[in-house]
Amino acid sequence: MEQINGEGTENSPLDCIVIGAGPGGLQACIHLGRYNFRVKLFHTPGGRTGYAKHIENYLGLRVVSGPELLQTGLAQVESFGVAVVRAKVERVEVRQGLFEVQAAGKIYHSRFVIAASGARETLAPFKNLPRFFGTSYYTCMICDGYRTTGKKLLVIDRTINGMRLSVGMKQMFTRDVTFLAHGFSLAPVYKALLEDEGIALVEGRPEELLGETALEGVRLSDGRVIPCEVILGWGGITLNDEYLEGLDLERDAEGFKIMTRGAGESSIPGLFVLGALRHGHSQAIISAGQGAEAAIEISTRIVEL
Ligand SMILES: Cc1cc2nc3c(=O)[nH]c(=O)nc-3n(C[C@H](O)[C@H](O)[C@H](O)COP(=O)(O)OP(=O)(O)OC[C@H]3O[C@@H](n4cnc5c(N)ncnc54)[C@H](O)[C@@H]3O)c2cc1C
Repeated sequence: MEQINGEGTENSPLDCIVIGAGPGGLQACIHLGRYNFRVKLFHTPGGRTGYAKHIENYLGLRVVSGPELLQTGLAQVESFGVAVVRAKVERVEVRQGLFEVQAAGKIYHSRFVIAASGARETLAPFKNLPRFFGTSYYTCMICDGYRTTGKKLLVIDRTINGMRLSVGMKQMFTRDVTFLAHGFSLAPVYKALLEDEGIALVEGRPEELLGETALEGVRLSDGRVIPCEVILGWGGITLNDEYLEGLDLERDAEGFKIMTRGAGESSIPGLFVLGALRHGHSQAIISAGQGAEAAIEISTRIVEL
């Protein structure tokens, strides 16, 4: 593997390499760049924030789209002298107290690494879902529950959790809630509970979302149509953490998200983890706060304050 000349070699390591240009990685870079440290940011386009059409819960911005937030953030990062490299990080290893980061056919060395590469969506296989994702088909109550306020809502879930979610949605956002139990039948006790709460129940298999520009409903495999204006549906995430595979990182009880301690440091000293990769709640503003905290912690170690 080629060793690059100048910054980022074994003899002249970078202060920090940041992986991922979501809100977490960008905020870390803003802080690190303003310390005049030698920093490289690696990123590939995409990321969950790119799907967010209307972020309304970010302090100081009444409403901003995810792409707009990221574009402004990237320009801000570059203005503070951080080198931005559009390349996927393939591997991170630790050797003799330094990190070796492999990207675009080269190896870069650094004293610290911030992993902020987030996660990617696994969407339900319903026909036309991409047409409505982020505008009327949502997968995150924290992000988008508010946008269902007063609307005709269909909650779709493959587990009993959907029932709890339906009750919560009714308490917080809208009186008009239907729960679609996707591919399973609810026990009588739960059916009675939903009835008491005034939540309609449908059991069946959704196949297609209906509507050209505005969502009109869902067609089930048996031909029934359930009208709705908005959906809170199931979806999963896969972490963008393949490049960390060789490291013995402490994970949560499910062996999924990465556990961190003070300021987001992982069980590998000097490797900080932010955002969706890390155990805990994930939101754009939380990632940004975590990015700032990790960068400040790294600065105190570099200058030994
Ligand atoms: C539809 C939708 C709506 C949302 N709405 C809101 C909202 O209203 N408010 C809110 O606070 N949050 C919202 N979120 C959640 C928010 O986007 C996430 O919590 C946030 O993105 C987490 O940020 P992050 O920095 O961890 O990662 P991300 O935003 O996912 O960014 C990670 C970046 O790393 C890059 N990357 C991945 N792998 C590599 C690699 N190997 N090498 C280099 N780069 C890599 C990705 O391409 C991406 O650019 C929403 C999410 C979705 C999907």
